Amino acid sequence: MTTAAMHLTVLGAGVMGTSITTLALGHGLPVELVDVDEEKLTKARAAIERQLRMAQLMAALPADVRRGELVTSVDSEGAAGSVAVIEAITEDAGLKAKVLAEVAAAVRPGTPLITNTSSIPIAELATAVPRPEELIGTHFMNPPYLITTVEVIRGPQTGDRTLASVRSLLTELGRQAIVVRDAPGFVTSRVLHPMINDAIRIVHDGTASAEDVDALMQGCLGHPTGPLRTADLIGLDNLADSLWVLLQRTGDEGCRPCPLLLDLIERGDLGRKTGRGFYHYEESLQ
Ligand code: NAD
Repeated sequence: MTTAAMHLTVLGAGVMGTSITTLALGHGLPVELVDVDEEKLTKARAAIERQLRMAQLMAALPADVRRGELVTSVDSEGAAGSVAVIEAITEDAGLKAKVLAEVAAAVRPGTPLITNTSSIPIAELATAVPRPEELIGTHFMNPPYLITTVEVIRGPQTGDRTLASVRSLLTELGRQAIVVRDAPGFVTSRVLHPMINDAIRIVHDGTASAEDVDALMQGCLGHPTGPLRTADLIGLDNLADSLWVLLQRTGDEGCRPCPLLLDLIERGDLGRKTGRGFYHYEESLQ
């Protein structure tokens, strides 16, 4: 495997890693995309081609920039030469801590380690890395190549240099950073995920169908897609993982995943990524 110099390393070729890679390639940045699952990498390569075409059609990526080179790998050895690492693996604190510790040992000191977690406090993950001042959180919204605002989470130990590097990386990617302090779920997940859980509970209790909940939230309250469609877009497994993180760290019972959410996950209906969740989809977004 050869990796372009000064590339970005993205860990995890799921919903977010794939789409963050599209964003970076579309802005001319070379990317090494890493996943432990070779099949995920094969799917991601095809998804990135589709997303790049869609983003160009929607004028969501600069037209005059030469696309960055993509390299995929099942190990993160190539991270040694990267300008920054974006970790976008499964929302599991233990797994993220292990992977961040491994990659921190591989990169040059001074390389920003960016965790794209939905809810896990940065301070918690910082205990796993040797240079906690280099760890910072980003919370790209799905899909990152279309949504231009990014929540950036500054952990208590995150250094000024790391924050400045991440701000400049996001500017290079045409994103606006909103920097917030560290807390379970930060701002967006702390507000959005319990709200979606409530919407699922309404469907579970038979008060209204998913379509009607979404139609009301869109038509009356100006929500762009409706909470159930948003849940499908996030991925129901990822939503439940984030709700467990919130429940365990805040004690807020509103964050306990609704049984209907857990039933859908049990059936393998994970939303857009499997073609079925609260709705059915002709093609997967990935
Ligand atoms: P996903 O389940 O679609 O993908 C996770 C990927 O990580 C999988 O491909 C898996 O094979 C890979 N992985 C697991 N262990 C790995 C390891 N040790 N090394 C490399 N790859 C590994 O999840 P996702 O929806 O892409 O979420 C990724 C992260 O982004 C999570 O922390 C999630 O909370 C966060 N996030 C998700 C959304 C969203 O809308 N889905 C939005 C913002 C943030």
